[in-house]
Amino acid sequence: MTSNPSGIGKLDNLQQEADCIAFPACRRGRGVHDALSKPLTFFEQSPRSDEIAARFPDLHPAFDKTAAVAEANRCLYCFDAPCTTACPTHIDVPRFIKRIAADNVEGAAKTILDANVMGESCSRACPVDVLCEGACVLHRYNRQPIAIGRLQRFAMESLNETGGGLPYAPAPETGKSVALIGAGPASLACAAELRRHGIRAVIYDNRPLPGGLNTYAIAEYKLTPAVSLREIDRIHALGVEFHLNTTVDAAMLDRLDNEHDAIFIGVGLGAVHRLGLDGEEKYNITDALTFIAHYKSGDITAISGRVGVIGAGNTAMDAASASVHLGASEVTMVYRRGPEQMSAFHFEYEHAKHEGVHFLFRANPVGLKGNGRVEALQLEHLEMTSDGSLVPVPNSTFELPVDHIVLAIGQSSHTELLDGDETHPPRLKLERGRIVVDRATGQTSDPRYFAGGDCTNGGREVVDAVADGKRAGRGIAAWLGVLNA
Ligand SMILES: Cc1cc2nc3c(=O)[nH]c(=O)nc-3n(C[C@H](O)[C@H](O)[C@H](O)COP(=O)(O)OP(=O)(O)OC[C@H]3O[C@@H](n4cnc5c(N)ncnc54)[C@H](O)[C@@H]3O)c2cc1C
Ligand code: SF4
Repeated sequence: MTSNPSGIGKLDNLQQEADCIAFPACRRGRGVHDALSKPLTFFEQSPRSDEIAARFPDLHPAFDKTAAVAEANRCLYCFDAPCTTACPTHIDVPRFIKRIAADNVEGAAKTILDANVMGESCSRACPVDVLCEGACVLHRYNRQPIAIGRLQRFAMESLNETGGGLPYAPAPETGKSVALIGAGPASLACAAELRRHGIRAVIYDNRPLPGGLNTYAIAEYKLTPAVSLREIDRIHALGVEFHLNTTVDAAMLDRLDNEHDAIFIGVGLGAVHRLGLDGEEKYNITDALTFIAHYKSGDITAISGRVGVIGAGNTAMDAASASVHLGASEVTMVYRRGPEQMSAFHFEYEHAKHEGVHFLFRANPVGLKGNGRVEALQLEHLEMTSDGSLVPVPNSTFELPVDHIVLAIGQSSHTELLDGDETHPPRLKLERGRIVVDRATGQTSDPRYFAGGDCTNGGREVVDAVADGKRAGRGIAAWLGVLNA
């Protein structure tokens, strides 16, 4: 698995590299500008691999203008539109669609961005079938729902073509400042909202580029790093400050606490769980997030041999589909339960099946076989008892020959920077590893701390993180006494 088509060794090293994921553009020095030249935008620093671009064509190619206007004209422009209610950021869907129909595409984009500063990535990554499009009234008439996601994407791309920016400017400075930990969608949306209220927003992130999972994890055929970073340039233009390659630990958090009026925590989730099998560390087993980040960076452009993906959530589906696109000879997903219990969205499952991924249900990994490299995954069949628990079927052990294993069995929480010790309680109240917040404002158990996104909801969608960040931005502004109407 490598950009060098002759070899397959690269995946072996991925786990060791997990903590220093850097995109090649930065390593090639494109991210380093000399003092006299204009700093590169984030978009200009995005990685680019022609091979990856060829292997991951768009899942839903963009509408052209004629198709967009025709689709917009199907909309009933509902009053109290259920699509708007279903959107966690409450984009005024009928309004932006009407503007497309009226050939006011810039106005449409501004309607979207006014409600959702990350409307471009959401137009590509949102599970629209279960959100806006799932709620469209046309379902009631047995008609195709309006393709809201694709219309939104059309509006955002049209805005990019005209070089348009956000529909608002930062408010006059209030002298207040907030540190935001993490540069994922939650912090970015919070930071935009803070600038809208004249509050200084300073973001810290441990990776070389901002965007969190938007830049590093979402399947390439939905969202490329370039699109994610172009969107972040718009937020940057509001005067948001970025400190990248900077890990915030408990000591640094103390310092930021002294320097700022409030803190926003948007650190997402932590590492992918391991299997816990004997000798696991010896073999070429990687976790799905590392694998995905490496192909998105162009570090891996091909994979050979058989891949076993363990897990059955959306991340597992993405890793399995990506393995197919990268050229794996056979991809098998292994899951302890049955298809009806998978946490992946149904359409993600259908997509993976359509891509040619095989599924092995009610199978539990019990061992690894190989000589330096993994050669087979040892599994046992499971069956469900009358009380719903899973038990091994006696004498049912079997082997799945594999050349690579990718783990996607859930992520741990990631709140070390809030940890206490024997004498100090944790800095914030946590429940099952999640930071407890007031949903309306994002405020935590410490009134100066706010939080949102995956670290509070346990891992949902980009649009949920954006909605959390937006609410928290307003919550902070209100708490600091600078909320503009
Ligand atoms: C493989 C995968 C595919 C996905 N696909 C989709 C999809 O198709 N559609 C969709 O809507 N959602 C998808 N999601 C979910 C979505 O990406 C997340 O819900 C969203 O990114 C959460 O945003 P966040 O800001 O809370 O956290 P993140 O995006 O995780 O960002 C957190 C950031 O904080 C940084 N950080 C953490 N700790 C520290 C620290 N101590 N100091 C400094 N920085 C720190 C991290 O490096 C990271 O950059 C996917 C998730 C995964 C894992
Ligand atoms: S529910 Fe469907 S038809 Fe009604 S406004 Fe929304 S997209 Fe248009």
